[in-house]
Amino acid sequence: ASHQAASLTRTTCGYCGVGCSLEVVTRDGEVTAVLPARDGPVNQGHACVKGRFAHGYLTSPERLTRPLLRRDGHLEPVGWDEALGHVARGLRAAVDAGGPDAVAAISSARATNEENYLVQKFMRVVIGTNNVDNCSRLCHSPSAAGLTASFGLSGGTDSLDDVERADCLLVVGANPVEAHPVVGARLLRRVLHGAKLVVADPRAVGLALHADVHLRPRPGTNVALFHGLAHILLTEGLTDEEFLRDRATGLPELTELLDDYPPHRVADITGVPASDLIAAARLYGRARRPAIVYGLGVTEHLHGTDGVRSLANLAILRGAVGTDRGHGVNPLRGQNNVQGASDMGALPDLLPGYGKVTDPAARSRAEAVWGVPVPEHPGLRIPDMFAAARAGDLRALWVIGEDVCATDPDANRVAQALDACPLVVCNELFLSETARHADVVLPVASWLEKDGTFVNFDRRFQRVRPAVPPPAEARTDFDVIHAAASAMGVDLGCPTPADALAECGRVAPVFAGLSHHRLDREGAIPWPCPNPDRPGEAKLYTERFATPDGRARLAAAPYLPPGEQPDDDYPLILVTGRRWAHYNSGSMTRRGGNLALDPVDFLDLHPDDAVRYDVQDGAQVTVESRHGRARLITRVSEQTAPGQVFCSFHFPASGVNRLTSDHADTVTSCPEYKVTAVRVAAP
Ligand code: SF4
Repeated sequence: ASHQAASLTRTTCGYCGVGCSLEVVTRDGEVTAVLPARDGPVNQGHACVKGRFAHGYLTSPERLTRPLLRRDGHLEPVGWDEALGHVARGLRAAVDAGGPDAVAAISSARATNEENYLVQKFMRVVIGTNNVDNCSRLCHSPSAAGLTASFGLSGGTDSLDDVERADCLLVVGANPVEAHPVVGARLLRRVLHGAKLVVADPRAVGLALHADVHLRPRPGTNVALFHGLAHILLTEGLTDEEFLRDRATGLPELTELLDDYPPHRVADITGVPASDLIAAARLYGRARRPAIVYGLGVTEHLHGTDGVRSLANLAILRGAVGTDRGHGVNPLRGQNNVQGASDMGALPDLLPGYGKVTDPAARSRAEAVWGVPVPEHPGLRIPDMFAAARAGDLRALWVIGEDVCATDPDANRVAQALDACPLVVCNELFLSETARHADVVLPVASWLEKDGTFVNFDRRFQRVRPAVPPPAEARTDFDVIHAAASAMGVDLGCPTPADALAECGRVAPVFAGLSHHRLDREGAIPWPCPNPDRPGEAKLYTERFATPDGRARLAAAPYLPPGEQPDDDYPLILVTGRRWAHYNSGSMTRRGGNLALDPVDFLDLHPDDAVRYDVQDGAQVTVESRHGRARLITRVSEQTAPGQVFCSFHFPASGVNRLTSDHADTVTSCPEYKVTAVRVAAP
């Protein structure tokens, strides 16, 4: 047999939000290796075990290769015409019966920017509703709301390169060594070169081993913790008075609030010793160029937006944002393109580039490009979509690349919602938990099989290129959305991904300077990038903040307790998160060699609790919350604090999201994954 020579395709990793540049080696139409690009702007020649090795799923015999249609209760293979005809008739019937708002779509970080742009355009132009949301609702929607309120834009304030110049790193509610390994390594490199490190996390995460101070607050007490640090900055004179006078608002209100957060009171609320609080505040407060990096341990709370804003207060008090005296406030995005999904307007209240649907000027800009009126009332958020489905008000739901039955909280009720909805369409690689509840399952391409762009955690657009074609009849989400629109008699325009990004730039001036052509030439370009002749802005707010008055806004939100507290019936707090070898629901990383690296899910619990609840290391236990039940294998570990247990969500079969509650951030509806009261018992 003759073999083709190996070829290389440069693309961007489709797992976490770091955005590593990868060289994909293919031979005879198959991926044989994935190598980190030496000149990758973020990864600088490195990659982690996910990006490098988790590509075996591409050729898994479980890949969906033909559309599936539910008949007599069973999903059966059909042709694309029949599947799309069913989708088109179902969407039309839903609109006829309940109006455009009886239809909703959930987009995701699995989709490229161009696909996300097309999804929201489909919903607004073809259906006539703002009922479109994306998976950022479940992770960093409080970052979007909080950072916009504090500084004016919905993104991290500085680049990773800036952060790596900091002389003090405050890493909060994040485990980058496992969840964002390339960032974890770059932060660690900085620490080994002399930067101070403060880690604030209930668990003894990897970076905590190298921390000068490790703060271990009780889950759900972040706002009190941040106020405690701010109190010390103020009382010890570690603030930037000139910055506060010239570039910030809200100091009197915050000063009054912080009177209630002296170290001893904060110690009572958070469990963090006052001496540790003082030591941490002094390290951050006395540094010449401090930086804050944070993760979902800040956002996934009942008061997640207050958490983001209270954390941002620290940078404002220090004048360490928008100046050369620090490197801002930087969220670590969990998924590859969760920043981009929101940037592209796959949100119920925001158009591409974050224009509000309630703002006539933003609507008319989109209307001028799309040629149809844009609905002016905000649409449903993801949890509200499920509630509307259970109430019988939502008649069609299109889920694109998100396994909501595995990754959304209170999963039993999510499944009820899908079963109550007359039409559920699912774009998927595999027969996921969600696809099992769908009426139509459309087989789609993965990140190694499509063309477009992603935006990483520090706002860089980078190119995504197909290394191999999708299998058999699978198509890209981009093609599927176009085909569905055609089946409904609408031409969505922008026939190629490059056209879609160009059109997005006409709707959203903040992206007007970007193009595939330019990205092919220059590599990574951060937004804002309004001008094709100018570089994007890696560091934001150097002249003014993007708020109406150009000033950063301090927030004075009091600490409020989480939605659940431990009690006699449910004495432990469950925290969920990520582990090193897997990604989200694990549908890709569990199909290949990474499964051997990390083969089962564990419930981590502290040795004291193992004794207290008579649980042996390696024993199978039943975990119960007020919402559901899961079965897990225990791992006795001091990484988890007494009174807390930890589990990932990479193995849906163990059912961890049947445990989590529907408590959600009061501002953005982001679920409180980080605080669920549970008990463990013998199986
Ligand atoms: Fe890089 Fe994240 Fe991909 Fe790992 S998963 S290679 S850190 S982008």
